[in-house]
Amino acid sequence: MSDKRFHVDGARVLADLTTLRGIGAYKTGVHKPTFSEPHMRSLEWLKQQLPDAGLAGEIDGIGNLLGASAKTGPKLLAGSHLESQNYAGWLDGPLGVVYALEAARIINPDPNAKGAVEVAAWCDEEGHFGSFLGSRSYVGDVTEGEIDAARDRNSDRTMRDALREVGLAGRPRAKAERGRHVGYLEAHIEQGRTLESGALSVGVVTSIVGIWQYRITFTGEQNHAGTTRMADRRDAGLALAKFCVDIDGRFPQACGPRTVWTTGRITLDPGAPSIIPGSAEMLFQMRDDDTTVIDRLEHLLRNMATKVGARGPCTVAIERIRTGVPALMNGAFQDAIEAASATFAGGKSIRMPSAAGHDAQVLSTIMPAGMLFVPSIDGISHHWTENTADADIVTGAEVFADACRRLLAR
Ligand SMILES: [Zn+2]
Repeated sequence: MSDKRFHVDGARVLADLTTLRGIGAYKTGVHKPTFSEPHMRSLEWLKQQLPDAGLAGEIDGIGNLLGASAKTGPKLLAGSHLESQNYAGWLDGPLGVVYALEAARIINPDPNAKGAVEVAAWCDEEGHFGSFLGSRSYVGDVTEGEIDAARDRNSDRTMRDALREVGLAGRPRAKAERGRHVGYLEAHIEQGRTLESGALSVGVVTSIVGIWQYRITFTGEQNHAGTTRMADRRDAGLALAKFCVDIDGRFPQACGPRTVWTTGRITLDPGAPSIIPGSAEMLFQMRDDDTTVIDRLEHLLRNMATKVGARGPCTVAIERIRTGVPALMNGAFQDAIEAASATFAGGKSIRMPSAAGHDAQVLSTIMPAGMLFVPSIDGISHHWTENTADADIVTGAEVFADACRRLLAR
């Protein structure tokens, strides 16, 4: 075990991340939408690195790249994604892919290590064309019809056209081989301030929150903004604004410790300065890993709506348009990450839920899954200034590789 080849090479990890940062660079971040030239070039780069880790693989028919090992023994699947949000950060995605690659490079050739790490880069985690299309395809949850219907939210080009343009049309899609993997491990930047504010190095993810979404529609009466006296109005926009304030006042007493909620879009109809809105709509989102908390909040929301309707002058309709599925991370995976943190991060770890969605939630539907976080400077992500200290990146890689060894040795 003293052989240097079988230990994490921090300089190599940082150099690989810097290489990926240079492909599609934008200020200090990157711009790599799904199936863009820099995204495809990043996948090609990863493909070229696979042989160094004793892996082989091709980009499949949906843009996933999976490096498979011919080694006998248990296999651990590890990875993340290589495309980015628009004009976003350099670590969201690539960090997890490079950690997986480094773990594979040091574990797979090690004669004392049991089994192998297999590396995955899941396509479109950032949702340019859909929702977790790459990882969902791998677990068998994406139909050809869904691909037919998918469009790029930036340009409206169809996913079929995009697949054709990058030469992936007609390729088979890789599907999970049941029983092949002992589980899936993913590393990611935290994208929040929990680790930084606690001077911690590693987040041991306990669960990934579910996202619930609602369309809340207010109905009043459209009328002339000059001639309609205030007492006679049924202003749907005003009813909506009051409802938002009401949520802000009442949710804190009913929510869980980490529940978050957001009104992401408000539309007034017809939306003109001289017309009292007859109808108003808000898209409202809640996130939690505890469905009982969400049940309680949804009940409260519906009660509030009933009261607004009874009081008048507007009525409110609430429609749930997305139902969250919180994903629990496997206990043995959490233990392995925590033990690895005790060895390589001075025990500076904390168990915490993930408030953002990740491919691990999809993989967790078919195999045990775990995630670890490294600190984000100022909690910033989905922005080109996103960053993590080099020392934290290297520590995270060491913890990740050690967790892989522990999971393979079980
Ligand atoms: Zn990500």
